[in-house]
Amino acid sequence: MNLILMGLPGAGKGTQAEKINERYNIPHISTGDMFRLAIKEGTELGQKAKEYMDQGELVPDDVTIGIVKERLEKDDCNDGFLLDGFPRTIAQAEGLESLLSDMEESIDYVLHVKVPEENLVERLTGRRICPECGTTYHVIYNPPEQEGICDKDGAELVQREDDQAETVKNRLKVNMEQAQPLLDYYDEKGYLVTINGDQEIDQVFRDIQAAIEKQ
Ligand code: AMP
Repeated sequence: MNLILMGLPGAGKGTQAEKINERYNIPHISTGDMFRLAIKEGTELGQKAKEYMDQGELVPDDVTIGIVKERLEKDDCNDGFLLDGFPRTIAQAEGLESLLSDMEESIDYVLHVKVPEENLVERLTGRRICPECGTTYHVIYNPPEQEGICDKDGAELVQREDDQAETVKNRLKVNMEQAQPLLDYYDEKGYLVTINGDQEIDQVFRDIQAAIEKQ
């Protein structure tokens, strides 16, 4: 099953991706996570990506398509994959299509998790991440058992640099401008499924399951 997860930052993509990964056993490939890891490891890719990410801007297409190509060629993608945060531009979507066609593969569904824009700033600025395992929490909507501490490994939770209020607004603006042409592109191709993301986490996941198990 080859899936793409779309939605504005804060729509709950990461949370749903984790559930999809557990249920269907396909790797969750987040370009944002890959860039953050590269920055943490201080690689050349990380240095390049950081300049853009710190401004809330997109990393250039050639760099981004390159890391996705490398990732999709790994063995754990043989039975499918879940892309999160990619593609973000039409050039990336076209790049993906040509990558997949070289691999004799295609996309099955593009899941668009939709949340009203006015809820997103609150969701994003309240988000906290475990720096060790990447699990995402929200101070109000999805808090850990003990405040500020990861349930899974006890690490101290942090706020992503780009979840801070000043950067969030620019990220949302950039994302909204970029998202619509992609949604139109995948709608025309018949891959697009819209999921109401303004519901309980488990209900959003049930709607996703219903959509992808329909046929
Ligand atoms: P995310 O975690 O998906 O919100 O991504 C965080 C940041 O990583 C974005 O604001 C971009 O700077 C960069 N990024 C992630 N995915 C992409 C992509 N597909 N194309 C370009 N930049 C990306």
